[in-house]
Amino acid sequence: MKPAPFTHHRPKTIEEALELLEALEDAELMAGNQSLGIVMANRLATPDHLVDLNGVSELTYIDNTDDGVRIGAMTTHRTLERSDLLAEALPMLPEAAEQIAGPSVRNQGTIGGSIGEADPAGNYPAALLALEGSVNLRSADGTRSVPVSEYFIAYMFTDLREEELIESVSVPTEPFPPARTGMAFLELKRAAQTFPTVSAATAVRVDDPTAADPVVEDARIALANAADVPLRVEDAESVLEGEPLTEDGLEELTEIVTGAVTPEGEMHADREYKEEVAGEYAKRSIEQAYDDAVAASNS
Ligand SMILES: Cc1cc2nc3c(=O)[nH]c(=O)nc-3n(C[C@H](O)[C@H](O)[C@H](O)COP(=O)(O)OP(=O)(O)OC[C@H]3O[C@@H](n4cnc5c(N)ncnc54)[C@H](O)[C@@H]3O)c2cc1C
Repeated sequence: MKPAPFTHHRPKTIEEALELLEALEDAELMAGNQSLGIVMANRLATPDHLVDLNGVSELTYIDNTDDGVRIGAMTTHRTLERSDLLAEALPMLPEAAEQIAGPSVRNQGTIGGSIGEADPAGNYPAALLALEGSVNLRSADGTRSVPVSEYFIAYMFTDLREEELIESVSVPTEPFPPARTGMAFLELKRAAQTFPTVSAATAVRVDDPTAADPVVEDARIALANAADVPLRVEDAESVLEGEPLTEDGLEELTEIVTGAVTPEGEMHADREYKEEVAGEYAKRSIEQAYDDAVAASNS
């Protein structure tokens, strides 16, 4: 099937894009068109106007800020995957980016499009939730910043308003100094070109990586495709904090995560299986993050 007819608009600035969004009836933003193109080709969306952001170069950047990193909405998965700045400061993000689909999707797809799509199986929503990031939204009336924990409201439903666009995401680097931190993004996938069955985004900061049994000072655990929104499991984080990583701690974490998730069953993975995978992948991801935190002082 072909998309229903629409008018294509190609603004050059954020202001122009916002003016179009306000002036046009039934307009949809277009970023990398990797998801929207499929939805429109199947006529599940039939907007009269497409506001194509590919000419808005001011939306593409990865910058250091006073307290972290800011990533422009039109930054592609490929650029995130290859960013030295992110590899050093927030390695969970390049790891999440490099596992998205194949090269053609990663060359075109953007972080703004992923957050705009708001698929609970998406890689960045879970990663940004674990890292306590925020989404910076802009309309003709100004900007506002929404914590990721409040942005995803229900299945593919967000706090984004009709007249707004996602301008960027902000991600704090506190409390994760590279020399004492490990991060991991681990996913179970049936094939490269599918969304994962379940993913686990984790971060660990230890007190002293050179100690015999480094103590976990801070842990983060968030999951994708394990509920109708990305899900953080703070109860599982707190069982790890204040202790070295132990088998008992990992077992408790697995049980808590398995009990906390509320996934939808899928053709290849029923609900019970996904609950078990969520617990197991949260555990493995934390183990990897902890090992990386302990090794971090040597790198
Ligand atoms: C085969 C395949 C496999 C995939 N596997 C994965 C995977 O494993 N993990 C994963 O995370 N993703 C996966 N994806 C999705 C991929 O990451 C998409 O690129 C992404 O979700 C959409 O990004 P896009 O830039 O193409 O956005 P588009 O498709 O252009 O837009 C998607 C939605 O976001 C809205 N939007 C876009 N930009 C903005 C903005 N700046 N402000 C507000 N709204 C905006 C659009 O209006 C639209 O509703 C897969 C996609 C495909 C095709």
